[in-house]
Amino acid sequence: MNIILAKHYGMCFGVRDALKATHETAAQGPTTILGQLVHNEVVRAQLDEMGVRQGHLRDHGHATTPQVVITAHGAAERDRMAWKAKGFRVTDTTCPLVRKAHTALAKLVLQGYHPIVIGKRDHVEVLGLTGDFPEADVIIDAEDVAALTPHERFGVVSQTTQPTDRVAHLVALVESRFPNSDVCFIDTVCQPTKDRQLALKELCRQVEVVIVVGGSNSNNTHQLVQTARSYGVRAHRVAHPEELRSEWITGARNVGLTAGTSTLHETVQAVHRALQQLAEPAYA
Ligand code: SF4
Repeated sequence: MNIILAKHYGMCFGVRDALKATHETAAQGPTTILGQLVHNEVVRAQLDEMGVRQGHLRDHGHATTPQVVITAHGAAERDRMAWKAKGFRVTDTTCPLVRKAHTALAKLVLQGYHPIVIGKRDHVEVLGLTGDFPEADVIIDAEDVAALTPHERFGVVSQTTQPTDRVAHLVALVESRFPNSDVCFIDTVCQPTKDRQLALKELCRQVEVVIVVGGSNSNNTHQLVQTARSYGVRAHRVAHPEELRSEWITGARNVGLTAGTSTLHETVQAVHRALQQLAEPAYA
């Protein structure tokens, strides 16, 4: 059995830099992260060991440490300012590509477009994007597009980790539902997400099964699983090697391995080793 790694996989620069900044902040004194730094249980366990506490972005001023960290997913400006106004030392690890999405949305609103965000309504990144623009509509499927009210101008951006196919489909749906409106779309799906989606597509041409390594609450990890299944291959998610099951790869000649953008490289390596061990008895 061959184990084939995706060309692009695992932790992106945005998460890696956020993690580094959080470690540096925590080294200077007691620290609270305002939300989940990354949606990954392994990373969370490491931060717990360092004594880093967990708080909530919207719980302004309720942290019990003088330092707080805004996660790579970003925050609405009013939340960022509220923490600073309460006297907390704020380390802002917002990914530059999430910032780009905020800037794009603000620019569209400034130009008079009614804002639309393609993404998951309750995802922390989307809450950050819409936090400063309560009038924004959030859409994830055709039903949401059908529920939109007419506007002369729509300005559309996307959560950075949405599949590009879905984003293009939803933009086309908005255009066809409102043929007389001006629909301006700014592509804010980040490059690491695009690279991983494309690499997965290539991987799925070569394998029967894909193992995706990532946290149970990681949006982009679930997207990778769903995308692999949409290409007709079996796909399973594991957070760590202990979750692998031998029956998943029984009979497979080629197994693909990829990981979400919040997954540590060492976790992917550990799953790779465990897959190799599982493969041997399967073909003994
Ligand atoms: S997934 Fe993209 S936007 Fe999110 S942290 Fe990584 S690089 Fe930044």
